[in-house]
Amino acid sequence: MNTKETYTQMIKTEAKRLGFLSCGISQADFLEEEAPRLEKWLNENRHGKMQYMENHFEKRLDPRLLVDGAKSVVSLLYNYYPTAKQEDPEAPKISKYAYGQDYHHVIKAKLKTLLEFINEEIGEVGGRAFVDSAPVLDKAWAKRSGLGWIGKNSNLLTQKVGSFYFIAELIIDLDLSYDTPVTDHCGTCTACIDACPTEAIVAPYVVDGSKCISYFTIELKDEIPLSNKGSFDNWMFGCDVCQDVCPWNRFSKAHSEPLFDPHPELLTMTKKDWEEITQEVFSKVFKKSAVKRTKFSGLTRNISFLSD
Ligand code: SF4
Ligand code: SF4
Repeated sequence: MNTKETYTQMIKTEAKRLGFLSCGISQADFLEEEAPRLEKWLNENRHGKMQYMENHFEKRLDPRLLVDGAKSVVSLLYNYYPTAKQEDPEAPKISKYAYGQDYHHVIKAKLKTLLEFINEEIGEVGGRAFVDSAPVLDKAWAKRSGLGWIGKNSNLLTQKVGSFYFIAELIIDLDLSYDTPVTDHCGTCTACIDACPTEAIVAPYVVDGSKCISYFTIELKDEIPLSNKGSFDNWMFGCDVCQDVCPWNRFSKAHSEPLFDPHPELLTMTKKDWEEITQEVFSKVFKKSAVKRTKFSGLTRNISFLSD
């Protein structure tokens, strides 16, 4: 093994020790294939009112503009698939990724530890850690690094564990050995397209963000347009439909991250409890949760949109 391979192995072993499902590495380069697709998606206004998506176009496509002298993008997956479910089948639903503590904090801490490990064991390395927090096309990098393929629902998919995981990355100025992409295993399946409650998957591999329930319930700050009434399949925060129906998610395994366990009340709250939720209960159940992003006013807006 040469030095590059040894360093690569050390980083992957440490990532595993820190609890990441998998780790793949790509050369930090311009994302040539994604550039025209991103441009078209923005031009077609698929991002709705998520104006921030228009910012940093160049940086989104080239990690060398985010980190001086960047050489490698280390992509990492972190499982969040829960075994527990909300008990009342009529309770408005929360996307599984938001059950526990805010993943930004949980994963950022792990990325920091990995970066420290690299600096201590390999040598002084410049770099930054990202988890859904800066203009990084995380799925594109994970795909390049051989961690999975991007499915027709636009999620990263793996044959072994489906798609219920977070994607994070380190962009560092260290040369490493690079992985190669895997093949697409969607085949003739169209389950996600057929099941999407708002017909947001407008073509295979193209999700119109401005039609997605996650957009309406999390990103949109205004009132939800009445034309969507009755089409949210009872989702009050995010939506898992196109992942739940994906046959590859039969292979999802339960996460082992205690910080992702939900507040017990979140699972037992009934439809009526949600409809009558107070600021106090919201603050208790979603203490440290990503759901706080919508604030009490956003969540109650979503709940009344479902129940009126
Ligand atoms: S998350 Fe829900 S609304 Fe959005 S594309 Fe998937 S199924 Fe459709
Ligand atoms: S549901 Fe089918 S088409 Fe959609 S992402 Fe999964 S395998 Fe691909």
